[in-house]
Amino acid sequence: MRKYDLVVIGAGPAGMTAAIYGVRANLKVLMLEKLAPGGQMINTNEIENYPGAGKVNGSELALQMFEHAQELGVEFDYKTVTKIESIEDSKRIYTEEDDEVIEALTIIVATGTRPRTLNIPGEEEFKGSAISWCAICDGAKYRDKDVVVIGGGNSAVDEGTYLATIAKSLTIITDLELTADPVSCDYLRSLPNVNVFPYKRVVEFVGKGGEFTGIKFVDKETGENEQVIECDGVFEYIGAIPYTDFLEKTTILGSGGFLEVNERMETTIPGVFGAGDCNSKHLRQVVTATADGAIAAQEASAYIKALRRKEV
Ligand SMILES: Cc1cc2nc3c(=O)[nH]c(=O)nc-3n(C[C@H](O)[C@H](O)[C@H](O)COP(=O)(O)OP(=O)(O)OC[C@H]3O[C@@H](n4cnc5c(N)ncnc54)[C@H](O)[C@@H]3O)c2cc1C
Repeated sequence: MRKYDLVVIGAGPAGMTAAIYGVRANLKVLMLEKLAPGGQMINTNEIENYPGAGKVNGSELALQMFEHAQELGVEFDYKTVTKIESIEDSKRIYTEEDDEVIEALTIIVATGTRPRTLNIPGEEEFKGSAISWCAICDGAKYRDKDVVVIGGGNSAVDEGTYLATIAKSLTIITDLELTADPVSCDYLRSLPNVNVFPYKRVVEFVGKGGEFTGIKFVDKETGENEQVIECDGVFEYIGAIPYTDFLEKTTILGSGGFLEVNERMETTIPGVFGAGDCNSKHLRQVVTATADGAIAAQEASAYIKALRRKEV
């Protein structure tokens, strides 16, 4: 059985930072990732608010973090974690790929989130064709076309700004106002091809003969004033669901399936920590994910030191 001081689940910015801090604290660290290292940064066109990095492409920042972790000696494996177990002072990690059981003294869960969906008529039919959750992946096919973004938070505004440089027109439909940082909101509103519809609720993705034609929305409060906007594609940015299904049988999840942690990133299971977007928290950004990762790894190291003191 492979044995580690620390197994980090997820190689987004939280997990990569945790792994870096872990090896620098002299821990034997394994980082597991089910897709490509980088997490959501890979699908972000430009990150402009990570201190010191200036305006940087998300994939580039992801690669820099991954190379940094590897240079310091973090072991890495492509695996999807399906279950963790805590047996006295030892943790066991099970994966989808094979029957190997990995043992660790500590675990940091840094599995991030996936996009929330609306679950309204037409979504199932048009998802992956006219409906997307990734502007950087699918934005290019809407050059000089009409695009709608649903949502008004940081992701909607940042990705909307990117899409506005490609599309002929960009319509933002949100059930509140734009709630991203004011500078970004003002800039987006100032663009000549952008139109914002606040306090609306999207009720249907409309099609004709199997072809997507637009979206239907109503006033959020009254459900009245039905309107249809014709467009070629839609991007949904309406929040996130944590990748924590594999922890369902544990006691560490709070509301919405997010991990409940204290300020030291400790969960209620000793030796299991949470970091990044999968935690219950207010601001989900690269900088807060990396901060959580650093704290979690530091606490994992302190936990292991205490375990070793107990043994002698
Ligand atoms: C469109 C968009 C634009 C954004 N723009 C910005 C921005 O400009 N600036 C900014 O600071 N932030 C931005 N963010 C937010 C930022 O990307 C996230 O806050 C950050 O990536 C969270 O990092 P994380 O490590 O917690 O999670 P993630 O980046 O989500 O990484 C989690 C990783 O865990 C892996 N994983 C999940 N489950 C398992 C499992 N069971 N086993 C193994 N691996 C698993 C996932 O595949 C993923 O790679 C944006 C987000 C989006 C969606």
